Amino acid sequence: MRRVIIAGAGIVGLSTALSLRQAGFEVAVRERAPRIRETGAVLGVWPHTIRELERIGLGARLDEIKAERSFVRYRDFSGADFTMTKMPPARTVYRPQLSALLASAVGEDDLRTGKELVDYIEDPAGVTVYYADGDHERADLLVGADGLNSRVRTILAPGTESHHQGGHHVWRAVLPFDRDIGDGAPVLGRNRTRGTLIRLADGSCCWVIAQFGATISTTMTSKEEALARVSDLHDGTWPFALREVVLATPQDSVLHSRVAVVPAISRWASDRVVLAGDGAHAMSPHIGSGASLGIEDARVLGDYLSRADIAPALTAYQDDRLDRYRQVRQHADAMAAAPTPLSYVERFSEYLTWLHTT
Ligand SMILES: Cc1cc2nc3c(=O)[nH]c(=O)nc-3n(C[C@H](O)[C@H](O)[C@H](O)COP(=O)(O)OP(=O)(O)OC[C@H]3O[C@@H](n4cnc5c(N)ncnc54)[C@H](O)[C@@H]3O)c2cc1C
Repeated sequence: MRRVIIAGAGIVGLSTALSLRQAGFEVAVRERAPRIRETGAVLGVWPHTIRELERIGLGARLDEIKAERSFVRYRDFSGADFTMTKMPPARTVYRPQLSALLASAVGEDDLRTGKELVDYIEDPAGVTVYYADGDHERADLLVGADGLNSRVRTILAPGTESHHQGGHHVWRAVLPFDRDIGDGAPVLGRNRTRGTLIRLADGSCCWVIAQFGATISTTMTSKEEALARVSDLHDGTWPFALREVVLATPQDSVLHSRVAVVPAISRWASDRVVLAGDGAHAMSPHIGSGASLGIEDARVLGDYLSRADIAPALTAYQDDRLDRYRQVRQHADAMAAAPTPLSYVERFSEYLTWLHTT
């Protein structure tokens, strides 16, 4: 039986394990962290993603994480509604729940944590993978699903380090909050801000505030930075509990990220090594589909590997995905450059229609 080592047990590494197991591989997932990720906020997943998860065998178990249906319409800061009739209904999942579900489907026997890939050497018969603890092991194939700062990518395609996307910042938190938070429609505010409040299946509340072109103070806390943007998202004339919820958040619970991306690269594969997920293409979260696209990578890779030998399958996968991501980038750039909230929504709608019909 062909054996694959998958570096990284994020959503994409775990999805790849399920997909390649279906393609007939013995899978070995190796994760640097001591545990599968237990933090994070919510992920919006599209009907397209649910179909991909069903195709890699997770469909029947998705009910276990009670993905919530969420709104696919937007408001501006005065509460005016942009209804997006062409948008598919999204579902919102709590990221740690999806990770835990995928990890349990992979199973403990095929998953080891505390294993940081530091190097690999490829030869005609396979690949040897080296770990920070001094250990090494062999496989027929290595998948780099090791995220934004992928070690596998920097060996496979040197000079492709991730970089910050000029001034794009995100603040978010999950907390208990019993009072009414409104209908969950995201707001596209002034000064290129975006904000949302979502009720999760377990009753807790998630808020997210983001801004393109943000200027960050050296003296303010993350919570103060988030609060400073609330007036761009809410003019106070309509019911929106964002300020109340952010004020109720303990400072330690506020996650702040400066958005970083992977440059467009032309090499995703060699004869025995291949990239998937953020390791290959981390993009700005404003397209709300990095994880969805990574799950699609996992399914497509499994399809090619079930039909062909490893080297030709990897070449076919690379060609297929490079073309798709060239188009995703065009959509993402068009959204980020949108001059008004309305044009942002129109461009997002065009992107999602494309995603679901191609
Ligand atoms: C604020 C924000 C909001 C987002 N919202 C959405 C959304 O609504 N919908 C959506 O689809 N996407 C969203 N995304 C994008 C999504 O989070 C990512 O695209 C997705 O999580 C990538 O998954 P991954 O498995 O490729 O990478 P990661 O989740 O980064 O996983 C990589 C794993 O590899 C491990 N690792 C790293 N290096 C090594 C090594 N050397 N050896 C072994 N293991 C290693 C890491 O510890 C990690 O567990 C959002 C992103 C952000 C930042």
